[in-house]
Amino acid sequence: MFPKRLSILGREYRIIREKSGHLGADVVGRVKVELQKIWIDRRSHKQRQKAVLLHEIIHVLDFHHGVDLDEKQTEALACGLYEFARRNRHVWCKFSR
Ligand SMILES: [Zn+2]
Repeated sequence: MFPKRLSILGREYRIIREKSGHLGADVVGRVKVELQKIWIDRRSHKQRQKAVLLHEIIHVLDFHHGVDLDEKQTEALACGLYEFARRNRHVWCKFSR
């Protein structure tokens, strides 16, 4: 199941899975912090969509904390976190308890 809404730093973000390529030719995800919306290309593989969602969440964290990550750093963190979550599901689920 893909989330429709997420709370990020106390702000509710709407997750919109686009089906028609509105994001652009090579764009698979986008975030607009001022609108609190994240778009994900639903045509890509489910695992890719999850990694893209993490990527966009990192952009939100970066924006609010003023870290100033570039795209390469953002993607590296997203891939690393996704891999961690995938391989440590038993631990990941316990984080929220
Ligand atoms: Zn990005």
